[in-house]
Amino acid sequence: MSIQDTGSVPTVEPAPPHLHMADAAISAHALRRRFKATIAVDGIDLRVERGTIFGLLGPNGAGKTTIIRMLTGQIVPTSGTATVGGFDVVRDREQLKPLIGVVFEDQNLYDRLSGRQNLEFARWLYAIPKRRIDEVLDLVELRDRARDPVQAYSNGMRQRLMIARALLHEPRILFLDEPSRGLDPIAARQIRQTIQHLRDTGMTILLTTHLMDEADHLCQRVAFIVAGTIVANDTPRALKLAHSTPVVEVTMADEEDGLREVTLNLRDAGDQQRLATWIAADAVRSMHTREATLEEVFIATAGVRPA
Ligand code: ATP
Repeated sequence: MSIQDTGSVPTVEPAPPHLHMADAAISAHALRRRFKATIAVDGIDLRVERGTIFGLLGPNGAGKTTIIRMLTGQIVPTSGTATVGGFDVVRDREQLKPLIGVVFEDQNLYDRLSGRQNLEFARWLYAIPKRRIDEVLDLVELRDRARDPVQAYSNGMRQRLMIARALLHEPRILFLDEPSRGLDPIAARQIRQTIQHLRDTGMTILLTTHLMDEADHLCQRVAFIVAGTIVANDTPRALKLAHSTPVVEVTMADEEDGLREVTLNLRDAGDQQRLATWIAADAVRSMHTREATLEEVFIATAGVRPA
């Protein structure tokens, strides 16, 4: 048995490995799923800390939905293990259910019923206290439209109602498959605010997206998935820094033409020297660094576009 060195002061006995696993809200080890000849997920390792938003990013068919379906006990892994809230996703499937909320894009709402009636129906099915309806409507900011029929809802409102329904039983961990698919920029921003708000209440959220900007704004950590494997797994900030050329764009005073824009590579000794000389001569009017976008990092790492 090997215990990972965490770098902490060795006065406390390290916790046994299974407690390390339980500590994370979600953890997966060598998780794999095959559908006949297709290997949808090819041995992924994952760890999602409690109270954080984790993004699974990748193009269509990369395996994101299959990962969620395994982690939520809907399908069984071909091999490998995963725990959610400390429960094994295969062995403890029943204990897992009360802990998790799941929103898939193909889930149905009853169009002729109002938002509130949709929630009432789910509440009745799962014996949930009545007060919870108003609580979840507030969480997704739909209380004032709750009496309208769902067929009059925009896509964004429908999505928020589905999130509300998934929250009825007060899960601690929420799985969202493409939460902003098909939404206009304003509705997508509203969904992101809802997700952030839920995280602020202490929930752990695992979402899939192929929108790199969305992931960058929302997620504490992201994994890039390509053809069933994870090709990068880090904070958006670290990924962007690791892949950025340290470029600085300098606006300088030029004796002949007024202002002049120059791009310098800070790893180049000649450019470093030039910049130092200009600063000393008080010729620099403005200067800013340019960071790679998460999309650029994805393309550089994965060799394909995210969508
Ligand atoms: P998208 O962004 O389009 O939803 P994804 O990243 O979620 O894609 P998955 O839906 O997990 O990808 O699919 C991964 C691979 O597994 C694809 O090649 C898909 O065709 C295949 N696959 C998924 N579910 C099944 C199934 N039930 N039977 C056969 N093949 C499947």
